[in-house]
Amino acid sequence: MTHCRDFAKLKEIIAGYRPAMIDLQRELVRRNAVGPENKGPGEAEKAAFLVEALTRLGLQVTDYPAPDDRVAGGQRPNLIALLPGRRPEKVWVLSHLDVVPVGDKNLWHTDPFTLHVDGDLLYGRGVEDDHHGIVASIFAVRALIEAGIKPNRTIGLALVSDEETGSQKGLAYLLTHYRELFSPRDLIIVPDAGNPEGTLIEIAEKSMLWLRLEVQGKQCHASRPDLGVNTLRASAQAIVALDELAAKFNAVDPFFDPPHSTFEPTKIEANVDNINTIPGLGVFYLDCRVLPVYDLAQVIAKVQEITGEVAQRWGVTMTVQAVQAVQAPPATPAEAPVVKALEEAIQAVYQRQAQPRGIGGGTVAAFFRRLGLPAAVWMTDAHTAHQPNEYVNINALIGDCQVLAHVFCQD
Ligand SMILES: [Zn+2]
Repeated sequence: MTHCRDFAKLKEIIAGYRPAMIDLQRELVRRNAVGPENKGPGEAEKAAFLVEALTRLGLQVTDYPAPDDRVAGGQRPNLIALLPGRRPEKVWVLSHLDVVPVGDKNLWHTDPFTLHVDGDLLYGRGVEDDHHGIVASIFAVRALIEAGIKPNRTIGLALVSDEETGSQKGLAYLLTHYRELFSPRDLIIVPDAGNPEGTLIEIAEKSMLWLRLEVQGKQCHASRPDLGVNTLRASAQAIVALDELAAKFNAVDPFFDPPHSTFEPTKIEANVDNINTIPGLGVFYLDCRVLPVYDLAQVIAKVQEITGEVAQRWGVTMTVQAVQAVQAPPATPAEAPVVKALEEAIQAVYQRQAQPRGIGGGTVAAFFRRLGLPAAVWMTDAHTAHQPNEYVNINALIGDCQVLAHVFCQD
């Protein structure tokens, strides 16, 4: 049922790809694909390189570009590369082309856009997030072709833009304009999160709520607090009071990691420039990851109640605005064929029993799930995404490539 007869051969072929995988990582890293929202050039150069590489491999490559005036050329690429199988149903691997900015460059030991190899570790911006998925999936297809295996299902590699800044020019665009590309009978794998053991198959996500809280008081000289209303003090009181959210929405669901809802104060906007001024305006943000059992409207109502009390007590006004409120879509069933296929393949490669779980982070799988398309997020993940000195272990790339090849060749 989920057997792969030619796996020994595929496994050996893929083990031999080590130098070629490093070469591909090098080519991807040097092509800066930071999106325009993060003041980058976009994905065009990286996509052009991949179109050529995938075509040379013998795949049918089509671009479904999303219009975007902010980048040179006015388009954000979304590549679909197909290897025809015996059946029209597909196995999809969806990876993203864009990378996040390097952040503080001083924290990097080497140039983020030049691949640095140190033993088994490859360093550079994007090597894990999400070249890991791009490289592993391309070489899995290449192994099939080299082994002369015509897969049962058609293999689809989707290489999309704009994952890091909302996906509106990426997967969301594809699903709006080319919905027919994907079928509920397809297996959809998103290699963009996981655990270091390669055993976490993410099939559910928490609801995501980002709140902007604005505090209005009255600015004045710091030597005369009696003439103003200090919004920093009120903000601090509100932040402490908001800890009550965790007690109110305290459900525990061991299916998720972490198993409870989280409510974290995160960003705070700069207020006054000098030490001797009492701020009259304060803005801070709350990042809430809420178990699907709760309605986000309940959470917002509770935040308003808590901040209302603080506002009254400290003489400020507080407004609560949802920057993002995404109620979690239904989970991919733990028995879905894509989960079973991955479990089988992970067992074959790593001799480990994988676990379908839910996570707090949001991934593009939510876009699929909302449309009833069963997607599973999986990869061996060293959790270096978005960090300085992002790295990937070449052995994890080889292993995950073998897992994908196993799924591709399953009956
Ligand atoms: Zn990613």
